[in-house]
Amino acid sequence: MEYKVLCEYYEKLEKESSKIEKTKILAKLFSQCSAEDLERVVFLVQGIVYPKYTQLELGIATQLMIRAMSKAYGLSEEKIEEEFAKLGDLGLVAEKLSKNKKQATLFKKSLMVEKVFEELRKLPLLSGEGSQEKKIMTIYHLLLIAEPKEAKYLVRTILGELRIGVAEGLIRDAIVEAFLPSKEEAAEAVDYAWSILSDFSLVAKIAKEKGIEGLKSVKIEIGRPIQVMLGEKAESIEEVVKEYGEVAAEWKYDGMRTIIMKKADKIWLFTRRQEDVTKQFPDLVELCKKGIKVDECVIEGETIAVDPKTNTPMAFQVLSQRIHRKYDIEKMVEKIPVQIHLFDIIYLNGEMLISKPLIERRKILESAIEVIPGKFELAKQLITKDVKKIEEFYNEALNAKQEGLMLKVLNSPYRFGRHVGGWYKIKPTMENLDLVIVGATWGEGARANWLTSFELAVRDPDTGNFLRCGMMSTGLTEEEYEMMTELLKPLIIQEKGKEVKVRPKIVVEVKYQEIQKSPNYESGYALRFPAFVRLREDKGPEDVDTINRLIELYKSQGKAG
Ligand code: AMP
Repeated sequence: MEYKVLCEYYEKLEKESSKIEKTKILAKLFSQCSAEDLERVVFLVQGIVYPKYTQLELGIATQLMIRAMSKAYGLSEEKIEEEFAKLGDLGLVAEKLSKNKKQATLFKKSLMVEKVFEELRKLPLLSGEGSQEKKIMTIYHLLLIAEPKEAKYLVRTILGELRIGVAEGLIRDAIVEAFLPSKEEAAEAVDYAWSILSDFSLVAKIAKEKGIEGLKSVKIEIGRPIQVMLGEKAESIEEVVKEYGEVAAEWKYDGMRTIIMKKADKIWLFTRRQEDVTKQFPDLVELCKKGIKVDECVIEGETIAVDPKTNTPMAFQVLSQRIHRKYDIEKMVEKIPVQIHLFDIIYLNGEMLISKPLIERRKILESAIEVIPGKFELAKQLITKDVKKIEEFYNEALNAKQEGLMLKVLNSPYRFGRHVGGWYKIKPTMENLDLVIVGATWGEGARANWLTSFELAVRDPDTGNFLRCGMMSTGLTEEEYEMMTELLKPLIIQEKGKEVKVRPKIVVEVKYQEIQKSPNYESGYALRFPAFVRLREDKGPEDVDTINRLIELYKSQGKAG
């Protein structure tokens, strides 16, 4: 397929706001692709070139792009920056400048999707000495042959800024519409395969070639991360017990969700965001080798940090220092030891266990492992319908500095994906929100080098867009202001006076006093007195609270309407 054709679709998708129409456009695009192009196109409409879990992202820094554009269009970097300030979007700048470029018409050779995809795939792999120059040359070569519209979308894609409003739900619906009989069963089959493969391009390929049955028979591949099951927030213990009777109450540990995959003597560790943290936790790998008695399995648990002196749990922030660590890993193993509390098994020796009831999976888990006290344990569990007993258990968890309880329905199957029912969270107080930062403001006076106010946003699950809902400027220590500035600086995509817009990437947990209706933000709501609680390094923009949750919480304040 010509890249030009894909760009025409981008344009249509960008202009269209109706979800139904967008799905139709995307489905038409998918059905028009050859088998090879389909995989590439499914990546490219998401603005990515590798599955998200690989962490191989585009998102080239603005400054680097300006250098590549300066080279491609034979203009100074200052000139490009000037245009950028005028148009506010480097994609538009590239479109404008490439119109003036004579070579484009002389070349006459069409840019193909295959070529673009292969070139873009090189970018995230380049690192170390000389990589900046190589990146610039790769982008430069593409821009040289790109036509204006192609240049616009190339630049946006490379900056990680495609913004055509294509979220996961839309891709799923488009795959169904393009290749499957449009039924609920088909959407479920696509969801199922996606949850296991974590890669829509593979899912699209299976849908096209093997249909619903192909999707349904997808199995876990050891070494490839899955989309984990999550809990829903329950208002009270009574409410859950009233609905389900006897439940399995488990401590909700405040740590890192850990997916353990084992095959023979090899262990993989993934977070709930499908990040591979095997290298960061060699101590946990050793524990798994000792503690897991079966040959091949997928087990889940929560890893928490413990104080090396007192062996008592430490806050998640302490553990988070280990999650993305690239150096001094052995030192961290000593400084911040961990323990894991296992709560589920979903795959054993070639067999998917997800349809078995929770209670049965727990039994299988118990027989598949050997507890190593204080290190490799089972999550504390209490099976009862006695609300009083569950309340005592809840207090024990809170006294042990854990988050609360998970109440699990005894016969519930394991269901992949987001908050899907079967597991209910019980946590104290009004729920904090996890929000993504989309903008910030430089401080004044002594704080002029720091970003000091942060624009917060919720996610719209239908479009994948982020909708602003407040401005946070309290709750941070001096060090935290500094840390936030360091984290956000490379993500700046636009600057106007003291205000900056940043690529949505950094997630923070925020507390607040109240939610109010507000015409000032596109979410329609504003948080009153939002304050920083902590950085959520374990979450990405796709995991932040949704507009729907914000509305629910607003209503639960008793002010509906
Ligand atoms: P939340 O992050 O508030 O949506 O809560 C879901 C998270 O709770 C999961 O991703 C796990 O990391 C964590 N968790 C802690 N203990 C448990 C448990 N016993 N069962 C399930 N999840 C747990």
